[in-house]
Amino acid sequence: MSGFNPLPAVELNDIIQQCWEDSGKWFPVNTSTEVASDEHITFLMLALGGETGEAQNVWKKYLRGSITREEALEKLDEELIDVFIYLCNLFKIRNMRVGEAYAAKREFNQQRFDRSADRHVSGTAAGLRTPGGGPQ
Ligand SMILES: [Mg+2]
Repeated sequence: MSGFNPLPAVELNDIIQQCWEDSGKWFPVNTSTEVASDEHITFLMLALGGETGEAQNVWKKYLRGSITREEALEKLDEELIDVFIYLCNLFKIRNMRVGEAYAAKREFNQQRFDRSADRHVSGTAAGLRTPGGGPQ
């Protein structure tokens, strides 16, 4: 059947809560307090950066020929989930309503980039002029 997904739908808030609980069990942080400590936020920010770097490193290895594209894409998926896990923990610390925050940011970006796209169409956006005298 086309489009059939045998896995149950999981709400983003459930994932965020699971990541938070796992973080309390697996890492040297205190998730029992209402207000996260600076140390906890620092730990998560550094871990997020570390995982982002691991994702970039995978792609670097592919580009320099150390691993195949297929190996890189498989490993990239793992590292992107690691990034997602730390993001979820930061969402939890901030008590973010991720869906609402995303919708608000998307609206902002839509207005920003739609205006930008209008300029691109008219050829007046800075940096997008063609070399040697394109549209001014
Ligand atoms: Mg990793």
